[in-house]
Amino acid sequence: MTSISVLARHSKGKKEEDIIFGVNAAANEKAKIVGKENIINASIGAFLDSEGRLVTFPTIEKVIKEIPFEDSANYAPIAGLPDYAEAVIDFTFQEYMPANMHVKAISTPGGSGAIHHTIWNYTDKGDKLMTSDWFWAPYRTMATEMGRELVTFELFDENNNFNQDSFFAKTDELYKEQDNVLVLMNTPAHNPTGFSLSYEDWQDLVAGIKERTEDQSKNFILFVDIAYIDFAPKGSRKFFELFTDLPANFLVVIGFSMSKSYTMYGYRTGAMIALSSSESVIEEFYDSNQYSCRGTWSNCTRAGQLAMIKLWKDPALMAQLAAEREGYRERLAKRADIFLSEAAEVGLKSCPYSSGYFITIPVSDTRLVADKLAEDNLFLVPMKKGLRIAVCAVPSEKIKGMAALIKKAIEATGTKQ
Ligand code: PLP
Repeated sequence: MTSISVLARHSKGKKEEDIIFGVNAAANEKAKIVGKENIINASIGAFLDSEGRLVTFPTIEKVIKEIPFEDSANYAPIAGLPDYAEAVIDFTFQEYMPANMHVKAISTPGGSGAIHHTIWNYTDKGDKLMTSDWFWAPYRTMATEMGRELVTFELFDENNNFNQDSFFAKTDELYKEQDNVLVLMNTPAHNPTGFSLSYEDWQDLVAGIKERTEDQSKNFILFVDIAYIDFAPKGSRKFFELFTDLPANFLVVIGFSMSKSYTMYGYRTGAMIALSSSESVIEEFYDSNQYSCRGTWSNCTRAGQLAMIKLWKDPALMAQLAAEREGYRERLAKRADIFLSEAAEVGLKSCPYSSGYFITIPVSDTRLVADKLAEDNLFLVPMKKGLRIAVCAVPSEKIKGMAALIKKAIEATGTKQ
């Protein structure tokens, strides 16, 4: 059979191996042979209970079920329901609303939609945008899909602290090449490492960016991806208060997502929230991104927005949800604690984890170690520079002994850490 292509030139060759799907499928296949109870599947990026079922919050289920169908079936406005926009702004900043700033939000299909529009509207075709060297792979897919190039800085220095020098060395290079510098920062509870910038890191970062924006001919756009913020400890929102009195050419866009925090992954509900000291920058944010909504997916899922509004208008309901979520946050922290203390005991290095769904083990030959571990019935995701462990998907009982198994596989394959 001769292979022909009818794709447009720019779409030719577009294909991506879904590594996570592949690892998950391999785990399920092996389970058929050795039994599900003997498999540790740490590949899935969703919170699963000890039975391997998706964790869902009862309050969310109740709220969604109470929405009349004729309401959820209707269209939402292109930019989202006005109350939804207010609600996401309130819930994002809570007591840390930055002073003296203009703020607006636009509804997007999950945090992914917010990332998409920010790349599209704040960089030009052929531009580079930056994120850390450990990053969520769809950042690159989206950049490439839109004809942009993703470049990276080193997230950690030699002491496993935030590498401020690498951040600014790379942004300074971009500053020389283009007018807009867009940086995607996923914190707190970063995917895939679980790292969070400290308040002091944020102070230095904001001060350094402010310094660079003294050059009025250039713009800095900082996208903060907070997809996992509600699985970080209390107080993790405090850095928002630093986004105050920013120069007009320093725009902050926050990617809000209901996928994890509200267990509404499939409802595709999120938002992009922009902060600027300039009213006109916020007006053009609103107009251009609303236009892009119309020009891509039109409007977003109304049911997800209605659920958020219901919670926003009923503090008792929101408190109930917060209590349910806190229970799971603690459960996640316990799983991570078990793994990390055992890792320390056996001398297995990991990236600096503070909270979130994933822990990462840096290794030189990730495929080799992952394949060896699959023989031992432990399924992890091999990334370019390390192995991602989805602690969100593995119950505590199965986490015990995992670190020793990984250490052994690294030694057996002669791989470097
Ligand atoms: N950002 C990161 C780092 C993620 O891991 C995810 C989901 O896995 C998202 C953003 C976006 O998720 P969604 O589009 O479901 O809100």
